[in-house]
Formats: sequence, C-alpha cells, structure tokens
Amino acid sequence: MARMASPALVAVIGSGPAGIYAAEALVKQTDGNVRVDVFDRLPTPYGLVRYGVAPDHKSIKAIAKYLQKVLENPAVRFFGCVELGRDVSRADLLDCYDAVIYSTGAMVDRQMRIPGEELPGSIAATDFVNWYCGHPDAADHTFDLSVEEVAVIGVGNVAVDVVRILAKTAEELRETDVPEQVIEALSASRVKRVHMIGRRGPAQAKFTTKEARELGELPSASISVSPEDMALDPASAELAESDRKVGGNIKALNAWTGEPAAGRPRHIDVRFWRAPAEIIGTGRVEGLKLEKTRLDETGRVTGTGEFETLPVGLVMRSVGYQSVPLEGVPFDERSYTVPNEGGRITGPDGDPVPREYVAGWIKRGPSGVVGTNKSDAAETVRNLLEDLEGSETDPKRTIEELLESRGLPVVTYEDWLKLDAAEIALAESLDRGERVKLARWEAMTSACRGRE
Ligand SMILES: Cc1cc2nc3c(=O)[nH]c(=O)nc-3n(C[C@H](O)[C@H](O)[C@H](O)COP(=O)(O)OP(=O)(O)OC[C@H]3O[C@@H](n4cnc5c(N)ncnc54)[C@H](O)[C@@H]3O)c2cc1C
Repeated sequence: MARMASPALVAVIGSGPAGIYAAEALVKQTDGNVRVDVFDRLPTPYGLVRYGVAPDHKSIKAIAKYLQKVLENPAVRFFGCVELGRDVSRADLLDCYDAVIYSTGAMVDRQMRIPGEELPGSIAATDFVNWYCGHPDAADHTFDLSVEEVAVIGVGNVAVDVVRILAKTAEELRETDVPEQVIEALSASRVKRVHMIGRRGPAQAKFTTKEARELGELPSASISVSPEDMALDPASAELAESDRKVGGNIKALNAWTGEPAAGRPRHIDVRFWRAPAEIIGTGRVEGLKLEKTRLDETGRVTGTGEFETLPVGLVMRSVGYQSVPLEGVPFDERSYTVPNEGGRITGPDGDPVPREYVAGWIKRGPSGVVGTNKSDAAETVRNLLEDLEGSETDPKRTIEELLESRGLPVVTYEDWLKLDAAEIALAESLDRGERVKLARWEAMTSACRGRE
C-alpha cells in the first residue's frame, strides 16, 4: 500500500452527479485517506441536476442538497471555471494527480440528418433545456415563441420535459428557479399546440410512465393521441403484458384517446408512427413533413411512403445525446463513450490506460436516472483504488502552482456559495419561490466574487 500511507490525490473532471458520487466513493472507500479535487468548466457544481432536470421537478432538484454534503467534506475541494482542454490539459492533470476520473457527461444533441434541419427555428431540445435551466452558454439564446404550433421530435423523458415546459403557462413556472428572462419570454408565448412525435409506436416509447402521466395532468393543456396510433401489433401487445413500464405507458396513453378536455389554452398532440422526413421553409421553419411508418417483419421501423405536413414554426429535436471526445483520451466514435472496463479507460490495444478512469454518462452513455451514477461511480472508484494500491506514482507539481502560473480565475466552493446566496436573495426580492437563477456569465462570476 505504498501510496495509501499518504492520501491519494485524485482529480475528478466534471461536477455532475457522476463526478460528485465518485468523490463520495473515494472518501468512503479510503476512510477519508484521500484528497479529491473536483473540477468543472462552470462556476456552479451539480451538472445536469442544475442544468437538465426540469425546474418544475423540485424533488429531483433537491438531490443537489445531498451532493452539496460531499463537496463540504474536508477531503474534497471544488475548482469551478476550469475547463479540461482549454485551461488544463490531460497531461497537466497526470502531472498533478495520482489518478484522474473523467465525468464530463453527454449533453450534445444528435442530429436527425434531414433536409431543412439547418433552418432557423430548427433547434436541439438541449438548447431549449439549457435556456430554461439558465445555463450560461444559452443565456442569450432566443426562441420564436410567437409561433402557434411546435413539434418536439422524440418520445423520451427529455422530450416530455420540453413539451411540458412549452405547454405550461409562465405563471405555473413562476415559483421555479428559471431565470427572469425565461419567465418574460414564456409570458409572451403564443404557442397553442405542441406535437410530440415518435418514429415508432407507443410500446417503444422511452419515457417513463410517471413523466408521461404528468402531461395528462396539466391544468392549462389538454392532450390527445389517436386510437389508430395506439393499435398494437402482436409483439407490442405481448410487451405491454410482460414489461411493467411499457404496460404503464400504454395505460397512460390510452386514457388520452377520447375527446380532449375543452377550454384549455394549449393542446398536446402525441403522434406515433411518424418519421421526420423534411423541415420545410424559406428562410425559417414553416412546416414539418412526416412519413408514416410501421414495423417490418423483422421488427424494424420502415417508411410507408405516405406523408403529411404539420404547419409548425419551431422544430425541437430530442433524438439522443452524446459525449464529446476529450483531447488525448481514447474515444469510441460509434458509441460516443470512452472505451473502458469497469471505469478503467482502455486503449486501442484493449489494455487499461494507467491512472485514467471514467464515470457517468461519458462511461456508459446517456441512460438511467441520477441515482444510476452512484453505483456506476462506486465501481470506477473500486477499480481505481485497487490499481493505486500497487503503484508508486509521484505527482510532479501541485495543482495550485499550475493554476496560479496560468492566472486562472478559479471559482472555489466558497465563491459558489456566494452565487448560491445571490440566487436565493433574488428569488426573495422577486417574490418567486426558493431560487431564481442568474444565467449570464458576468452576473454569475460577479456574484461569486461577492459583487452584485
Ligand atoms: C434534460 C435532462 C433532464 C433530466 N432529468 C432527469 C430527471 O428528472 N431525473 C433523473 O433522475 N435524471 C434526469 N436526467 C439524467 C441525469 O441528469 C443524468 O443521469 C446525470 O446528470 C448524468 O451525470 P454525469 O455526471 O455523467 O453528467 P452531467 O450531469 O452532464 O455532468 C457533467 C459535468 O461535467 C462538466 N464538464 C463537461 N465538460 C467539461 C470539461 N471539458 N472540463 C470541465 N468540466 C466539464 C459539465 O459542466 C457538467 O457539470 C436528465 C437528463 C437530461 C439531459
């Protein structure tokens, strides 16, 4: 146990759930005989718990309180506004630490690769999510909510979140943490109809029943799905019997096949068996052409040659997420993850790359709930500590030296607490719930320095 006599030094890149659960596992599995430095490119910790989980899902947002305790452990430090690839390199980290865990997530949207996708008004759902969640990279994004119809492509939980935010009134979101400019923009929204579109059928929808049911319970929006879209082929009917989630989804969806509730300002149209074929428009989105689909004999989705066009002015695609490669770190271009075995990064020869590990979405792809990252990170940490036990690495320099030599304006945990307090104070001054997010870089970094 050469290294274990003195605390092991571990860098964790990314302070989302995976990174913070990894820090927690490092502390627990070494009985505190460790020093963990958690880095993030943002001045704020918690990754998608802050910038992905929908603002009206307050109980899930509260996971941040648990993650906060980890950052407050004396063995853990937070370094905000430090981006791997821009401010520090992989080699820098390997010079300063015994081991590095990359947990940078997977928040880049996949494209549909259909004509018209580049038109103004055709956007990645993640851009919209980033905007309403107050991500500083999206603070100045604008979306043309003067249109009456919007299409959301995808039937996963993220698509459901986006549909729900579009269908709710600004008043319903006032008590959440969305930035003031988002409330203002949503107040002016003229959206009346939101189409949620799936390439396959209801039995293949990826959303969870709890999320789906919420759509049916909105006071300001009615919802419908056509009985024709709900017809199940024998394989899907069997799945609905054998799989609880699928059965639950079908039951929730069937409740919407009747006449939609009257007198609501907005309507959600759930449409299955339709593949986006083309986004139509001159200079901006004016419509979405869909091809009707069916399953072929092998169970794969295929076009029927029958088309229809929806008169939508905005198209938001939510058809999958992917990680981005980190410079010098192996990357699998097919699965968009870092190749690994139990979190140990593997090189082109399949052998583990010494001292480098992954956790979370960059390790296993964008799946599971926040809690899934806990066992995932614990597995990585078990393997990391096992490897470290036999090794005699010796960091060449300290991270403090390195960051100082670059003159980087690092945000510490205490700095973040000032921003946290400023957001709580803002909510109070606006009489708006527990927190209102500051979304602009300058406002965030000023608040971190204790300035208004
Ligand atoms: C829109 C959306 C809604 C969701 N809603 C829910 C929900 O309601 N319930 C639920 O259980 N799960 C939900 N999830 C899933 C959950 O958020 C993920 O399981 C979890 O956040 C993945 O954790 P992660 O740490 O791997 O990635 P992330 O949470 O993405 O964290 C990655 C962190 O790395 C940082 N980073 C990235 N690149 C760099 C770099 N180069 N240098 C330094 N830092 C970097 C990022 O800023 C970020 O803070 C949702 C996901 C999305 C996309």
